[in-house]
Amino acid sequence: MHRTHDCNSLRKTDIGKQVTLAGWVNVTRDHGGVIFIDLRDREGLIQVVFRPEENAELAKQAHSLRSEDVIEVSGRVAARVPGTKNPNLATGDVEVIPNHLRILNRADTLPFPIDAEPHNEDLRMTHRYYDLRRPRLSRNLRLRHIATKATRDYLDSQGYLEVETPILSKSTPEGARDFLVPSRLTPGKFYALPQAPQQYKQLLMVAGVEKYFQIAKCFRDEDLRADRQLEFTQIDIEASFVAPDDIFAVTEGMLAAIFKAAHNIDIKMPFDRLTYREAIGRYGSDKPDRRFGMELVDLSDDFRASSFKVFRNAIDAGGVIKAINAKGFAGISIGQADELTEIAKLFGAKGLAFIKIENGEWKSPIVKFFSESERAALQSKLKIEEGDCVFFGADTWGIACEVLGRLRLRIAEMQDLHDRARKGHSGSDQGAPEWDFLWVTDFPLFEWSLEENKWNAMHHPFTRPKTEDMPLFEAKKFPDIRAEAYDVVLNGVEIGGGSIRIHEPELQEKMFETLGVSPEDRQSLFGHLLRALRLGAPPHGGIALGLDRLVMLICGEQSIRDVMAFPKNNRGIDLMTNSPAEVDPRQLRDLSLKLAKDKKL
Ligand code: ASP
Repeated sequence: MHRTHDCNSLRKTDIGKQVTLAGWVNVTRDHGGVIFIDLRDREGLIQVVFRPEENAELAKQAHSLRSEDVIEVSGRVAARVPGTKNPNLATGDVEVIPNHLRILNRADTLPFPIDAEPHNEDLRMTHRYYDLRRPRLSRNLRLRHIATKATRDYLDSQGYLEVETPILSKSTPEGARDFLVPSRLTPGKFYALPQAPQQYKQLLMVAGVEKYFQIAKCFRDEDLRADRQLEFTQIDIEASFVAPDDIFAVTEGMLAAIFKAAHNIDIKMPFDRLTYREAIGRYGSDKPDRRFGMELVDLSDDFRASSFKVFRNAIDAGGVIKAINAKGFAGISIGQADELTEIAKLFGAKGLAFIKIENGEWKSPIVKFFSESERAALQSKLKIEEGDCVFFGADTWGIACEVLGRLRLRIAEMQDLHDRARKGHSGSDQGAPEWDFLWVTDFPLFEWSLEENKWNAMHHPFTRPKTEDMPLFEAKKFPDIRAEAYDVVLNGVEIGGGSIRIHEPELQEKMFETLGVSPEDRQSLFGHLLRALRLGAPPHGGIALGLDRLVMLICGEQSIRDVMAFPKNNRGIDLMTNSPAEVDPRQLRDLSLKLAKDKKL
């Protein structure tokens, strides 16, 4: 037996016991011939002390130990000498006095010290098996396990069946770019890795499964970001005979179970709900971060007859005047103002007007154009006080909201409002919760694609229009049709989304037609789904949550890479295995493939 205890479990009550431990040498210290070793395993640390006067042979052996060597020690648990206790360590009252040491393996020169966070992420990724030994990452893996287990247990308790769906599936033209897998048995044909098990889970509803879930791997060939990887994991859920409220209830229950298991926190339920239009109108985002105020305020009615041309023209052109009040931001620097103006322009504004309130004065070149009543309206609607800074958006509703929404987030960063909200300082909404969950509902069914010059599905082509908006569908008023689609948002991050689906074949055909899918493509790409819908498909709907993002938030991390065991770097490369890699020409031949770069093959 390699061990009787783990390195985190020995306490005062164990003093006098003979134990065997195994793990890694975290650090060694030589104090005048006495060797102190912090022995580490997954659970924690314990001090092991080799005294030459007690066992010269063992002390000599211990002298050769280096960080990350793997050892097994047997010995007696002893009380630490008063004054040498370590209150920061769970095992800090005791130490182990060994009578036996076995060196199980040696470690080479280390790529970086285990107790220092290396700045070079590539170095970490190259030696990921070593990087993962660090307590922060090992805690993240554990929290991920806890979250996944809570998910399974909760969904099981609600009658959901875990069903696996194929990884080798079929390419269909929705959403992101597919990863393709050439077929050896059918030369010239390709499987696609699933972007999500969307169609399979709907087919499982037709199959009568009624309540499905899967911790599903998904693959999308997209550019990578801190919260995006080529492969990621979804908690995928689908159920039959449901309305959005049913999906909200199971999702909320599941998230409550996850937070209870991971942090012993009781999250507030039910979650608030905002429609898409409300979310955009009030926060300029479909995933609002509500942990600080600075809501968008509509001033269009107040400036309808304004003599300030810029505002008046925007309204006359059918647009709006909106503003946010950044409390205590009158000290904005020139650099900050320039950056915010750049952001405003990037998202479609012509410029950025703002007013600083300093020494009782409204400072801005635009103030002189305002009438008394316009000033009064601004004052009362934005609750303007000394030290504030008010930013305006005068544009179409969409642009004004988007611009102010982006500014709101950047200003919050500049003012450190997220941190202050977390620590309960002023500057945040009274009592802003640490975990702010909400639903955003009633997304538009379609969005116009400028590049493709056609309507695309905002969620996906299987999403159902709201029943009350069906007449708009008949009337082809595409931009006005709302979908029975919803997102769940946590602290300004979209952690999941779903919809009630189309279960009628005629409506699904009509949807494809609107999206410009030709009748031939409908058959070749979606024939299976259309046929299934004709064989007694129940009404159904579901949701998928991004497990990586959720765990990232639970762990307080900034990047999903830190909650995945073996992520790719931001160029899509696995530096540890050096993948993607070239393959043997014979493998290509087996697959009937030729690379464009060496046509001769
Ligand atoms: N399959 C969808 C997605 O990955 C989620 C859903 O509609 O359930 O976004």
